[in-house]
Formats: sequence, structure tokens, C-alpha cells
Amino acid sequence: MSFDYDLFVIGGGSGGVRAARVAAGENGAKVGLAEEDRYGGTCVIRGCVPKKLMVFASEFSGMVGDAQAYGWDIQAGALNWDTFHGKLVTELDRLEGIYRNILKNNGVESSDQRATVVDPHTVELADGTRKTAKHILIATGGRPVVPEFPGSDLAITSNEIFHLEKLPQSILIVGGGYIASEFAGIMNGMGVKTTQFYRGAQILRGFDEEARGLICEEMRQNGIDVRLGTNVLEMTKEGDKIRVKATDGTEDQFDVVMYATGRAPNADNLGLEALGVERGRKGEIVVDEYSQTGVPSIYAIGDVTDRVNLTPVAIREGMAFVETVFKGNPTPVDHELIPTAIFTQPEFGTVGLSEEEGAAQEPIEVYATSFKPMQKAFAGGTQRVLMKLIVSQATRKVLGCHIVAPGAGEMIQLAGIAVKMGATKEDFDRTVAVHPVMAEELVTMRQPVRTA
Ligand code: NDP
Repeated sequence: MSFDYDLFVIGGGSGGVRAARVAAGENGAKVGLAEEDRYGGTCVIRGCVPKKLMVFASEFSGMVGDAQAYGWDIQAGALNWDTFHGKLVTELDRLEGIYRNILKNNGVESSDQRATVVDPHTVELADGTRKTAKHILIATGGRPVVPEFPGSDLAITSNEIFHLEKLPQSILIVGGGYIASEFAGIMNGMGVKTTQFYRGAQILRGFDEEARGLICEEMRQNGIDVRLGTNVLEMTKEGDKIRVKATDGTEDQFDVVMYATGRAPNADNLGLEALGVERGRKGEIVVDEYSQTGVPSIYAIGDVTDRVNLTPVAIREGMAFVETVFKGNPTPVDHELIPTAIFTQPEFGTVGLSEEEGAAQEPIEVYATSFKPMQKAFAGGTQRVLMKLIVSQATRKVLGCHIVAPGAGEMIQLAGIAVKMGATKEDFDRTVAVHPVMAEELVTMRQPVRTA
């Protein structure tokens, strides 16, 4: 049987574009791709990239005081949102153009419209055109979800926060995950009076407790009103403001309320139900270790599969899919020991097991140090950083590394190599320190602070 394409990809985000490019450009496959929104997907258009630019923009406010303390004659001003936002829009347009060009230059035929699956080898575009393909790859990503409650329609999500008409004077951010905690820091740094509600006992559930505790403490020191054990009961519009009634009995007004209470996979209305493609509890597409669904010609990668929802993971899944399907080299996706950074302020870099996970798994030693970094301490700052290693007592392997510090994302990328290689504590110790940098503590901690 002959098909229009060897591969049809639904979704032009990081994972889909990578798979399409490599299948077409490096493997000579005939590839089609459909994207109903903007090319680049969540990461490039409404996630990692604009978020990181906002982190950069927000960090300047803290630098002015430090510069003054170092002797600079410098005055703080305010962020001009229009200037920043204008540049942001231009940059996102540029990046989207790059994504489109990647596809074009690799011979991928792309359509700017929604596609659904009609049968195991056929997709239908929104204009009614049908295309056949030997393989179909679903890479449709995810979207923010806001729970239903009175006034929930007044909330914005991370999709809208990048394109506010003006910077609000006050914002409430609801949620305690990556997105909520990152945006609390961003908004606070941009000069917005920032409140964060989290329903649980500590933000960033699932990560190392000591690290979470320090991040929350520092966020509060920076001026964010982090209210733990608190949720929204109802919201009402009051003039230009939103009145929020909270579970802790308080009522406050905010200019903007942003919900970052989780994301859902974009797997609805794609035609999958009729084909019997299995969906999980959150609606995600269920796939095996090769990203294959129960329908052999249909694969899925990235956030729509809700495995590890990170851009570099989606890209890995896309590459492994191409290796498996187009190179005849079955390649399972390795989801072990993925280093990651959370761009809270202070930043958090982490790989491997938390102290709690390590202790639950086997006897461990914990090496940790928390101190005032030189640059801030000189300026009179009270901020602290944390360097922490979780070590197996039996194998001496470093099971986890957790860094709360400026630049922690950069540091954990490198520490992640050692941890992924299975480095032992003694391997870390044999490495000569780089002096004077914060990360030298990772190779100079001699005594465990505790065992568990
Ligand atoms: P998360 O699932 O990480 O966090 C959701 C938060 O909202 C949790 O604190 C959760 O509380 C809370 N919550 C859930 N439902 C409700 C509710 N009904 N009312 C109040 N609070 C609620 O989602 P995010 O939106 O923060 O991020 C989604 C994903 O995006 C992450 O898993 C991550 O993989 C990815 N991401 C990665 C980034 C990075 O690498 N730096 C940056 C941003 C996103 P509870 O803990 O009690 O469940």
C-alpha cells in the first residue's frame, strides 16, 4: 500500500518539530506536519523561552541595591512593560520563523491547521483534506487547567501572563508547582505586589524538602506573600479589581489572578477514542517505552503522553521515535536521572533522588551545606544558598544532587553528567575545587550532616 507520507506529525512544538526534521532531513522520509496554533509550541511561544526572558527582566531589580552596596552610584527605576513586551513579541516571532524554516529546509510539508486522526493511517485537516501516512505521530502537548469554582472565569493562566496589557500593581498566583512559583518570583521582581496561595504545607511538592523550605523562605524574604495551606473559595469582579475570598478567612483585592494549578494533555477530539487508543487517568495518551500506542501505526511523544513534561524530554522522545521507526533501531526512552531547573528566585537545580526518596529506597548519607554566597554577603544580603548530595551508603553512588543558588540551572547541567555516569561521593571528592565559586562545596563536603 502506498501512502501520501511516511510520517504525519500532529503538533509543531519542540517534540513534533524535532521528530519531523530528523525523519525528513536525516532519514529521507516524506513527512507532513499540521499545527493549529503557533510553531514552537508551549516551550517557545508560551513557556520556557518567554518565561526565562521574564526571569531575566525581573532579576534586574535586585541588582540595583547590590550595585549600590558595591559602590555604584546607580538608582532604581521601574520596568517599562511596553518596552519589554514589544521586544518579547519580536523575539517570539523570530523564533517561530526559525521553527517554520527548520521544517521547510528539511522538506517537511506543513499545514497551519488542526488535524485529526480518521483511521490508523489517515489524518483529516480542518479544511477537509485527507492525507494518508504510514506512521502518525501525535505531539500536541498540553494546556493549563483552571478548576471550576465561583468566579474561576476571572482567572488568567500562564498562556495569558506573557501578554498583559500593562503590568498590574498586584497579583495573586494560585498553585505551588513550577509555574506558580516561577511566576511569583518574576512578578515580584518586576515590582508587582505578589501573593501566592498554595493549598498544601510547602510549595514544590515532590522535590527535596530542605530545598523547598529554603526556596520558600527566600521567596518570602524577597517580599512575596506566600500563603501556605490556603486556597481560593470564590472570586468576584469589583470594578477593575478581583475580590478573592480565601479558605483562611481573608478577603483581598487583586488586579490580576493567575492560576497555575496543573496542565492537561491535548488529546481530546483528535479522533483517538474511535480508534481505541488508550487514554490514562488525566486523559494522556498511553504509550509504551518506544512511544507507541496500542494502534501500531500511531505514536505519541511529549506532554500529551504525560510522562516527564519537559521540553528536552519531548525532544529525546522524538529522536528515539525516529531511531526506532526510521532507522530500525528500537530505542526506548531513558527517563532516569533527568536534571532539571526551576527558575524560582532563588533558582533550583536538581537531579536524582530527594533526601526523602533516597531514605525510603536505601540507607543514605546526606551531605549538605547552606551559606551566604560571597557576592551577596559582601553587599550585606542575607540570602542563603544550598548545596546538597544524597549518597548511597552501600554503593557510595551520588543518588541525588540539589542546588538552590543563583545559576543553579547551569550548575546542575554539569553535576547531572556525573550523577548520570554513576559517580560516587569519592569521585566528587577526587575532583579539585574551583575557587572561589559556590559550587566548589559540592566537592569539599567531608562529613555527612546526617544518615538515614
Ligand atoms: P504542577 O502540576 O507542577 O503544579 C500544580 C500546582 O497546583 C500544585 O501545587 C497543586 O497542588 C496545585 N493545584 C492543583 N489543583 C489545584 C486546585 N484545584 N486548587 C488549588 N491548587 C491546585 O503544574 P504546573 O502548572 O506548575 O506545571 C506543569 C508542568 O510544566 C510541570 O509538571 C513541569 O513538568 C512543567 N514545567 C517545567 C518548568 C521547568 O522545567 N522549569 C517550568 C514550568 C513548567 P498539590 O501539590 O497539592 O497537588
